[in-house]
Amino acid sequence: MVTADDIRVAAERIGSMITRTPMRPAPALSALAKGEVWLKCEHLQETGSFKLRGASNAAARLGDVAGVTTASTGNHGRALAHAAKQLNLPAVICVSRLVPQNKLDAITELGAEARVVGASQDEAFKEAIRLKRDEGFALIPPFDHPDVIAGQGTLGLEILDEIPDAASIAIPLSGGGLLAGVALAAKSRRPDLRIVGISMERGAAMAASIAAGHPVEIEELPTLADSLGGGIGLQNRLTFQMTRELMDELVLLNEDEIAEGIRHLSRQSGEFVEGAAAVGAGAIIARKLRATDGPLILILSGRNIDPDRHAAIMRGDT
Ligand SMILES: *Cc1c(COP(=O)(O)O)cnc(C)c1O
Repeated sequence: MVTADDIRVAAERIGSMITRTPMRPAPALSALAKGEVWLKCEHLQETGSFKLRGASNAAARLGDVAGVTTASTGNHGRALAHAAKQLNLPAVICVSRLVPQNKLDAITELGAEARVVGASQDEAFKEAIRLKRDEGFALIPPFDHPDVIAGQGTLGLEILDEIPDAASIAIPLSGGGLLAGVALAAKSRRPDLRIVGISMERGAAMAASIAAGHPVEIEELPTLADSLGGGIGLQNRLTFQMTRELMDELVLLNEDEIAEGIRHLSRQSGEFVEGAAAVGAGAIIARKLRATDGPLILILSGRNIDPDRHAAIMRGDT
């Protein structure tokens, strides 16, 4: 269980380990969305994504362990490596072969080991379980953990501090840790607030699981929103249920729509973001998301994209 109180306590615990990121108006998107749109610029977070919030909260609560480990599509691993370094803990990050080289480099540069295992997040996860079982490591998963969810939820508190009359928050959705935390924080203050989850059409495990009524495995496919790839775990304990209960609307985007979001945020707002972070803008441009009921907040969740890839998307060859 995670409560709104856990999120408030997390905000105090990690206050000195993270950056309070800015909220910026987005006039061009506001015109398209027919109402006020704001960007929560979490891509400016240390390590380049919001994952530092959950990883810091979970790692800071540990007692005596040999180190920390996790399986991750990249950003969580990088965040945990950073949090472990701040806390003087060894870190082994298990990743799948789909994870881009720039993300592996970022983990190694932080003094952690990046261990490449298997072709899917689920296979990498098995190695992390082994480290926990055989070597006394604490396994901090990327989303399905109460301390991680509470840490991500601190973003929701910051959003409502800045825009108390926000009507909707659009949240990039993969395993659901970000959505569960932010939605819990936001709805505990404002039960009427609308939570919109956004995933890619290619390989969205949470969308497939919600449609099936229980967690399902689906094939992991390459996508511009690579941080939204990966399964939700067949034994999912928290985020599946929380997402089902807290999400009001689910939007799916194709690859062109995600690319449009990346281009728009760069050209119109000057924000350099990765695919997963661009889905809110992509949804507005694709006319799948509007702001007619009051201020709409988009969470720009990360900036960790290969610069050459970003340049290619800007040129239009995706
Ligand atoms: C992990 C991640 C997400 C999705 O978060 P979940 O908690 O898995 O739903 C979105 N954007 C970025 C940049 C991420 O790293």
